[in-house]
Amino acid sequence: MTQNILKNFINGKWVEAKTEKYNQVPNPATGEILAEVPISTVDDVNDAVIAAKEAFKTWSKTPVPKRARILFKYQQLLVENWDDLAKLITIENGKSFTEAQGEVLRGIECVEFSAGAPTLMMGKQLPDIATNIESGMYRYPIGVVGGITPFNFPMMVPCWMFPLAIACGNSFILKPSERTPILANRLAELLQEAGLPDGVFNIVHGAHDVVNSMLEHKDIPAISFVGSQPVAEYVYKKGASHGKRVQALAGAKNHSIVMPDADLDSSVKEIIGAAYGSAGERCMSCSVVVAVGEVAEALIEKLIQSADAIEIGNGMDEGVFLGPVIRSEHKAKTAKYIEVGQDEGAVLLRDGREDACMTEAGYFIGPTIFDNVTTDMRIWKEEIFAPVLSIVRVKTLEEAIEVTNESDFGNGACLFTQSGHSVRYFRENIEVGMLGVNIGVPAPMAFFPFSGWKNSFYGDLHANGSDGVEFYTRRKMLTARWS
Ligand code: NAD
Repeated sequence: MTQNILKNFINGKWVEAKTEKYNQVPNPATGEILAEVPISTVDDVNDAVIAAKEAFKTWSKTPVPKRARILFKYQQLLVENWDDLAKLITIENGKSFTEAQGEVLRGIECVEFSAGAPTLMMGKQLPDIATNIESGMYRYPIGVVGGITPFNFPMMVPCWMFPLAIACGNSFILKPSERTPILANRLAELLQEAGLPDGVFNIVHGAHDVVNSMLEHKDIPAISFVGSQPVAEYVYKKGASHGKRVQALAGAKNHSIVMPDADLDSSVKEIIGAAYGSAGERCMSCSVVVAVGEVAEALIEKLIQSADAIEIGNGMDEGVFLGPVIRSEHKAKTAKYIEVGQDEGAVLLRDGREDACMTEAGYFIGPTIFDNVTTDMRIWKEEIFAPVLSIVRVKTLEEAIEVTNESDFGNGACLFTQSGHSVRYFRENIEVGMLGVNIGVPAPMAFFPFSGWKNSFYGDLHANGSDGVEFYTRRKMLTARWS
């Protein structure tokens, strides 16, 4: 065992999990073991719920500006610790340090949005719905909220959840990914330093047992989940069957359509960033390029050139763009997908299995490009979540949109063009929730909802923005007669 045995954070204290089971947490760039994460039990969840429920009594009645002030302080601490947080992200997740710095910024923006709670939580009134009768809507927190997060954004995704949930007066239990659990503990330390009362924010590390206990617990009325599609669907259904409100953000297969009138250099730069940044392990990654008409040849040539120039290595090293994938199993699964693509008849233009990084101790795999991919292939249908890009060739924008809409997923889609008409046609006909025009990763900022469609989202209210406020609050309607 390493010295770094992670603890749960319950009622403002670091406590050992009531478990014998621990998972190792390796640095994906080196294989070195960074920590041991407890696979906590139902007893640990129960302890956290008792603490969170007790804390809720006072926290929910704490004046909203006072709650917001703690978030202002937290924002300051996150800014002061920016690079240290980014380093933790790179070490446990593998993404480049520059990307990790960007992820910290995305987290900070969520805290900044949440600090607007006094405005966000305002209700509405109408003084005269009938003679001498007024009506008003008041907003209240809902109780103990559970958050379950994925490995790929150890800071940003938890920050989609707990800052807003606690700003709205809820208490919170976070179950971070057991594959990237380290940063969450630092987020808790800084929250405590910012003055958050004990029990308002808690962490229970672990895997499915923790998730299932949260989904079944009668004192957790709401669950925010982000992760893969099958688990999101499961969490949504199970949570709903236990009477909870659930928002479950899921997997993706994002298409970038490139028109013949696109500015090729900037399109290629954006697509390369979106396909291979964070090793393709982003729910807004570009995994399919749809080349329209005669653009294909020049586009492909430039994509290969740019992919060849990518620096692969440890994300902490200067100039590295493509880090490792999260685990050796994921590297093996990616290599298997490349085999599948070849068997299905796609043309392998660039084979990431041949890059020198493959022989290193970390879980590296180079940028891969398939041409002539069709919608009956598994490499088109399934989320690979790795640096593998598929190219589909079509003749028209209409056909490109048909291909994109055929996907079961509906997270993001991008169009590269100079034509306003094409943009309008794309916007009106694409069945996807987050659109980009001449932008590779159209992830909305914290003040807008993260708006995936189809199998990329289960629920009614998305994360962030006004949806987030609705999700973390419930209303009272007061109708009063004063004669
Ligand atoms: P994952 O589904 O394996 O894990 C997510 C969380 O669910 C983790 O905390 C994990 O412990 C838990 N979990 C896993 N299997 C479970 C099971 N059988 N029962 C109960 N809980 C379980 O996802 P991941 O691999 O950590 O993250 C990558 C996935 O997340 C990708 O599919 C990606 O597209 C998706 N994602 C989506 C968004 C979005 O906004 N739509 C954002 C980030 C990531």
